[in-house]
Amino acid sequence: MSAPLKGSCFCTAVTYVVSGAPALSAFCHCTQCQRQFASPFVHAIHVASSAFSWTHSEPHDAQLDTFVIPTKPWKTRYRCKNCGVCVAGRNSQTGNCSIWGATLERTKDGKIKAWDVVKPTAHIFYGTRMVEVNDDLGKWEGFEGKSNRVA
Ligand SMILES: [Zn+2]
Ligand SMILES: [Zn+2]
Repeated sequence: MSAPLKGSCFCTAVTYVVSGAPALSAFCHCTQCQRQFASPFVHAIHVASSAFSWTHSEPHDAQLDTFVIPTKPWKTRYRCKNCGVCVAGRNSQTGNCSIWGATLERTKDGKIKAWDVVKPTAHIFYGTRMVEVNDDLGKWEGFEGKSNRVA
């Protein structure tokens, strides 16, 4: 059993903890992630909803804005009301929560503390990439192992 993963928004008003290892950890190049985070790709982590808990002061909702993705109403995003950072998502179809590696707790040198547990295993939705990535990870058109491998 690994130590729980802790993370927060940029201003730290919103905090969370995740128990256990991720169900998925990958660099995601899908257009939804690109547009939502204004970034060529993001480090996406999926965990079971039961493994995810908010840890900031109650009531948790007082610190959170929710955003339902209009084209995918089963996906809700939770953002800090103060700094606006998106800290988690919930998918009511899969029963998973999403978090993003960049929000995880850091060492004083700026490294993600739990990197050994959360390091990405692949690049997913690489067909819509905005940038080529030359690393050793597999590149997939969709999800890892469930789509065509691109590289
Ligand atoms: Zn914040
Ligand atoms: Zn994505």
